Amino acid sequence: MARHRVPAGARLHRPLRARAPRPGRELHAQDARRREGTDPGTQGPQAGGLSPGIIGTVSPTVPTLLPTATPSPGVAPLSLAERIDALLPQTQCTRCGYPDCRAYAEAVASGEAPLNQCPPGGTEGIRLLAQLLGRPELPLNPEFGDEAPRRVVYIEEATCIGCTLCIQACPVDAIIGAPKRMHAVLEADCTGCELCLPVCPMDCIALEEVSAGATGWAAWSPAQADAARARYAGRQARVARDAREEDERLAAKAAPPALQAQPTDDPKRAAIAAALARARVRAKARPQ
Ligand code: SF4
Ligand code: SF4
Repeated sequence: MARHRVPAGARLHRPLRARAPRPGRELHAQDARRREGTDPGTQGPQAGGLSPGIIGTVSPTVPTLLPTATPSPGVAPLSLAERIDALLPQTQCTRCGYPDCRAYAEAVASGEAPLNQCPPGGTEGIRLLAQLLGRPELPLNPEFGDEAPRRVVYIEEATCIGCTLCIQACPVDAIIGAPKRMHAVLEADCTGCELCLPVCPMDCIALEEVSAGATGWAAWSPAQADAARARYAGRQARVARDAREEDERLAAKAAPPALQAQPTDDPKRAAIAAALARARVRAKARPQ
């Protein structure tokens, strides 16, 4: 299937803006320590939230993500693209030159793309891919970006005009707000993809480093990747449903009078007639 390729030049790397520390910052540092296994309040590397089929530990700091080749009884085996996708960070940032992590996974599986184009996964991500594919490890290709500490965005509330453009750009629904109302970032859900930055007409979205200098998989856990994948899938489903409903609405509006509901004084009959008319329009619009 032909894939839309995002030009590598479209990626953004904005400098950080100075910002006063907010309550809750310590949580990020603690999270980073927990991932490193240096938080005295936890027992070693984070293991919670791992996808089924993801096992073990390969280094003192990074949980092994290699999906098992042998599925559980009754479970279909994962395709190569699915196993590669399980090793990608799921920030959906497009820095690899593909529209999302799954598209890059498919390109790597087919041999179309090399395994060193994902900056958020960093060196550890490349190592895991090389291990899975039995290919040599390569350095991260700098054309696609650098491995850097994890950042999230925040919205400068006083400047936000509530245009909703950032909400529409966010691949994981990490921004909430309503038209002409101030928007806010759900920090725990922000993958730091930076896709919301270029669309803000007020330039009121800024970046903040949250991983205490840690990069790649040392700054991002499998549980966070799983959550980002789920949020992205949920958004994709919602966007597709909205588009389908809009198509149906337009088709119903354009349908000849014979296909439209006829006026009646009986509300029950009117509801049935309207439902039948919608069903006829849907049937007509369905591909043969
Ligand atoms: S996280 Fe990696 S694989 Fe996913 S879209 Fe970004 S660069 Fe591509
Ligand atoms: S809020 Fe912005 S940086 Fe964070 S995930 Fe959404 S689009 Fe990406």
